[in-house]
Amino acid sequence: MNNYLKKVKFKLHLDPKIEKRGNSKLFIPEDKKAVLLIYADFELEWAWRYSKHNENSLHAAKKHGLTERENVPVVIDICKEYQIPITWATVGHLFLKSCSKDKSIAHENLKRPGYFENQFWSYKEGDWFDADPCTDFRTNPEWYCPDLIQLILNSDVKHEIGCHTFSHIDCTDKLCPPELFDSEISECKKLSKALGIDMKSFVHPAHTIGNLDGLIKHGFTSYRTDYDNILGYPNKYKNKLWEFKSTWEFVLFKEWSIKYHIYRYCEILRRAIKSNTVCVLWFHPSMDRRFFETILTKIFEFINENKDNIWVPHVSEYVRFLNKNGL
Ligand SMILES: [Zn+2]
Ligand SMILES: [Zn+2]
Repeated sequence: MNNYLKKVKFKLHLDPKIEKRGNSKLFIPEDKKAVLLIYADFELEWAWRYSKHNENSLHAAKKHGLTERENVPVVIDICKEYQIPITWATVGHLFLKSCSKDKSIAHENLKRPGYFENQFWSYKEGDWFDADPCTDFRTNPEWYCPDLIQLILNSDVKHEIGCHTFSHIDCTDKLCPPELFDSEISECKKLSKALGIDMKSFVHPAHTIGNLDGLIKHGFTSYRTDYDNILGYPNKYKNKLWEFKSTWEFVLFKEWSIKYHIYRYCEILRRAIKSNTVCVLWFHPSMDRRFFETILTKIFEFINENKDNIWVPHVSEYVRFLNKNGL
C-alpha cells in the first residue's frame, strides 16, 4: 500500500482497526481509559545479515548495527525525561561481552536452522553463525552490547528486558523444530539469568509466529503479533500465553511531514482513549535518529499530558494486571 493510501485509510478510521469486546473494562484499569505498550526490537546487526532487501546484506547489517548503537542511549535518555518504559525484545547474543570459535565454528553448542528462504531472509550457504566475528564488544560493537543492556538496567525508568531469540531465527513451526527453539531460548535464559533477569515477554523475529508451546515451557507469559493494525484486546493461548496485537510501528516516511507523523501517533492514542482499548507500538532502534529527536519526544509529551487516561506499563507489568483480574 502506498503512503498516500495509508493516509486515506487512517483518515477514514479504517486503520488501525478498532476491536470491540464486551468485557473491555477488565483489560483497562478502572481509573484509566487506555493502555499503551511500547516495544523496541533490539538486535544490532543480527536482524539484517541475511536480508533479501539489500544486495550486500552484511554491509547494510553493519550500518544498522552501528546506527542502533548510537540511537539506544538517545532513546533511553528520552524515556528518562518523560518517565516512559519500553520493553526491549533483545537478541540473546547482545548479552555477551565476547565469544570465540570453539574448534572451527561459532557457538558450537547451539543447534542451527536448516537452509531456508522466507519473506525477509535468504540463508542458502555456509554456517548460520558465519558472520559472527567471534571477538568482543569493543572490537565489534555491532554484534554485542552488554554495555547498552547495563544502561537500560541502570535507568531509573522501569524498562523490561524481553527475548527476541539468541540469533534472530525464523521461529515458525515449519522452519524451527522445537529442539532448535529450545537451544536458542535456553542460551538466552542462561545469559539473562546471570544478570538477574527473568525474561517473561517474547517477540518472534519478524513476527515469524510459532513454537508457542515452547514459549509456555520456557516460562514466557506473552508474545506480540502483527497480522493487522489493531486497537483492541489481547487474546490468551491455552490460557497461559497472552498475545498482544500490534497497532502500529514507529516509522519515518519521507513522503510525510514531521508534523503529520506527530499528529498521526497522537491521534492513534486519542482513538485508544476514546475506544478504551490497548495500543501496542513497536520500533527498530536502528531507524533514522530524527524520528526519536523530533517525533518520539512529541508523542511522549502527549502521553504525559494524558497520563490520567493512558497507563503505560512495561509488558510483563501489564500481564500481572491481566492475571490479577482473573483473565
Ligand atoms: Zn558469537
Ligand atoms: Zn527483529
